[in-house]
Amino acid sequence: MAKETFEFQAETKQLLDLMVHSIYTNHEIFLRELISNASDAIDKLHYESLTNHELLEGDTAFEIHLSTDEAAHTLTISDNGIGMDRDDIINDLGTIAKSGTKAFLEKMKEAQQSGDKSTDKDLIGQFGVGFYSAFMVSDQVTVVTRKAGEKQAYKWQSAGDGQYSLEECDKPKHGTTIILQLGADFYGSDKDENYTDKDALASLVKKYSDYIRYPVTMEFTIKEKPKDADGKPIEDAKEEEHVETRTLNSMQPLWTRNKSDIKPEEYKEFFQHQFFEWDDPMEIFHTRVEGSVDYTALLFIPAHAPFNLYYSDYEPGVQLYSRHVFIMDKCKDLLPDYLRFVKGLVDSPDLSLNISRELLQQSRELKLIGRNLEKNILKTLSRTLEKDREKYETFWAEYGKSIKIGVYSGMMTGENNVDKLKDLLLFMSSNDGKLCTLKEYTSRMKEGQKKIYYATGKDKEAIEALPQMEMLRDRGIEVLFMTDPVDEFCVEGVHAYEDHQFHSISRGDLDLEDSEFKEEKKKNEDLAKSNEDLLKDMKEFLGEKVADVRLSNRLKSGAVCLVADAAGPSIAMEQAFAAANNPMFKARRILEINPQHQLFAKLQAVHDAGKDAPSFKDYCTMLYDQALLLEGILPDDPAAFAQKVAEMMAK
Ligand code: ADP
Ligand code: MG
Repeated sequence: MAKETFEFQAETKQLLDLMVHSIYTNHEIFLRELISNASDAIDKLHYESLTNHELLEGDTAFEIHLSTDEAAHTLTISDNGIGMDRDDIINDLGTIAKSGTKAFLEKMKEAQQSGDKSTDKDLIGQFGVGFYSAFMVSDQVTVVTRKAGEKQAYKWQSAGDGQYSLEECDKPKHGTTIILQLGADFYGSDKDENYTDKDALASLVKKYSDYIRYPVTMEFTIKEKPKDADGKPIEDAKEEEHVETRTLNSMQPLWTRNKSDIKPEEYKEFFQHQFFEWDDPMEIFHTRVEGSVDYTALLFIPAHAPFNLYYSDYEPGVQLYSRHVFIMDKCKDLLPDYLRFVKGLVDSPDLSLNISRELLQQSRELKLIGRNLEKNILKTLSRTLEKDREKYETFWAEYGKSIKIGVYSGMMTGENNVDKLKDLLLFMSSNDGKLCTLKEYTSRMKEGQKKIYYATGKDKEAIEALPQMEMLRDRGIEVLFMTDPVDEFCVEGVHAYEDHQFHSISRGDLDLEDSEFKEEKKKNEDLAKSNEDLLKDMKEFLGEKVADVRLSNRLKSGAVCLVADAAGPSIAMEQAFAAANNPMFKARRILEINPQHQLFAKLQAVHDAGKDAPSFKDYCTMLYDQALLLEGILPDDPAAFAQKVAEMMAK
């Protein structure tokens, strides 16, 4: 087949452009990227060969080999990994799929738009920018590759100018060879960066790729005097040249080393590179356990939650290794879903390489390791909460939602997370606008207070403005503010803390314990009797909209409010469901009227004029609409509402 020419996908072009015209000083990371791709390719072949040994074609000595040609100004990186077929090449080398690279592009654009040049060179070192980084140092990149198990090899070539060519070729060994035609600044002993200098290359491998699990080898030509039988150089002999193949990396994975020997930068570098992260991790867990199951785990909590953490396209999970050999990426059955933000890996000789992923995911060993790690993480979190509140609140801001979802989703999946998680929960308090734990709330509850009061609303200001808040504020009763739709589901899940039940100030009865409240309540009950007709007629007129109309015990200066029946979802929950396009869950709305308010007397007068009179109907509608507005819900007919208000104002 003849040579074909292709255009790179638009985003790839942008990235290439950045690489070719880069002003970055950290060019050297290209080597790390190409070596790590080679290592990934060997991992893949190794994994596939477990079930299909033929793929190895008899070549079991995995290796990444570097070679240089000073005269031709080339640097070549070869591996005997999985290789690529034609489709792989077009998909993998012609487009950008990896999220890290995409995120990199976005950050670059941001930095450029803000005119902040200083971040440019940092950025490139922080991201795994992948294969295209080769163009930082090359005028031309040639990839010769053959997929293991297939006959046809291909040659891909590009000068990084928006196009690449592809043609068939021969390659006896499976795997990939990448030949970099180095740019003029990157070869020759007079250059600061000379990528044909073997010693320089060796130290780069040591610096960035030491823990790569396969040998990275290079041939060195050694000139030395021949040795005698004892291995001592013979003094007056002439120097002889010979070629020696050296392995440049120690191949010891970071996680297998002693914690005390690992520098913070090494953890950071590893985290960023292995998991395509660009910030420092917020928390690092490095544990080695020997017991009924042996394992080493290196887990991280990233500094920031990914934007899609709660969307279905987010793939949680940690990497699995067995005896340092990669088994799988993103195993999501290890940790519970509420820890979906944890990244990292587990390496255990007890995880079998030779079983299917499905069986592996159900294995007893995996479950045991998972439970231990979950305990560890929770212990660390509660210690942080105790010892370093500020840090915990930072954690909470990023991942609190995940923990809250964990509490209530556990109810549905049957795993009860409440006891594990309830003391990790934080809610904003009406006391000081700060976050508090449930323990803190209950420890400062008022004498005789039995319930934990909470209010829902879109933010602190909206909740504080709720007419129901006034009475509680007057009595100095602390209220927890639930501003995230998941909050209320979460407390439903917790149900009670230290025997104190949660109680929404907008649901059911307020149920305060003091005698003043009880007296008021009694008075209202009597009033309700004498106004039975009024309440009944209002309810009848409002029809489907409300489940009931009552006199309120929770209002002070407010005229009306809308609450939900204690049985069934709250209004906030209903709204959350509606926002998620699930209008099935409906709150049973109760309109409450404040008999102390002067409007009440007016309402009685209007009602006396007849329940079918237009003015009574207007009052009903408007009171209901007002109550909706207080909950942040638009009236059913906003235009009619505005019109009525205008009319009344004109009176
Ligand atoms: P990433 O490694 O994060 O996926 P890269 O830009 O580094 O992104 O590489 C893009 C893709 O090209 C890889 O995912 C892989 O499919 C393919 N690739 C790159 N180098 C090799 C190689 N040496 N052997 C096989 N495939 C490779
Ligand atoms: Mg890569």
